[in-house]
Amino acid sequence: MIFKQLFDQKSSTYTYLIASAEGREALIIDPVLENVNQYIELLKQLDLRLVKVIDTHIHADHVTGASKLKDITKCSTIMGDHTPAESVEIKVKDDEYINLDNLKIRAMYTPGHTSDSYCFLMDKQLFSGDTLLINGTGRTDFQNGSATDAYNSIFNKLLKLPEDTLLYPAHDYKGEKVSTIGKEKKQNPRLQVNSVDEYVEIMNNLNLKKPKEIDFNVAKNINLGA
Ligand code: FE
Repeated sequence: MIFKQLFDQKSSTYTYLIASAEGREALIIDPVLENVNQYIELLKQLDLRLVKVIDTHIHADHVTGASKLKDITKCSTIMGDHTPAESVEIKVKDDEYINLDNLKIRAMYTPGHTSDSYCFLMDKQLFSGDTLLINGTGRTDFQNGSATDAYNSIFNKLLKLPEDTLLYPAHDYKGEKVSTIGKEKKQNPRLQVNSVDEYVEIMNNLNLKKPKEIDFNVAKNINLGA
């Protein structure tokens, strides 16, 4: 298998490139528009054919490269079926599998950060979008976010995965690259709560600033960055 974790400096976004290496099919999760040429170059270098591109949710902090990648490579665009983005070609449901050569990637509906947030699980690798971050969790104060839904998605879905599941989030602001479900259960300060009410209390008192360019980014991303 080929696996690359790429980082966008401006928005601190992680983009993931996955390929089975056998049939040369590749998939990209959460591409950033400004970095599309870099992905195309990397695909060329690795002799891969991009067939699918996934956005975990409608992002507020960067514009997705999904449409541009589709224009260049003819890949299919994928999001969970709760997405408001009408031009998405393949809308996957909770527990549905996405195939990439011999690899299987399971879609998991995990609302909370946004109402359209999905995570994607490939064997022991969880691509958690902004639902679960390393030592943090995605904010729930815009885009139909809900701290109660986030609690359910995290505690009743993601934390039920095996402890050695590798956690690959869509962002990190401190240079962390990977964690595990077991580590987060023990150390993530947001997860040291005894009830949904306690979690909601934390999330409702974060007092975060509105992200820069959110209105522009969300409007662009509803059209997959086109
Ligand atoms: Fe987000």
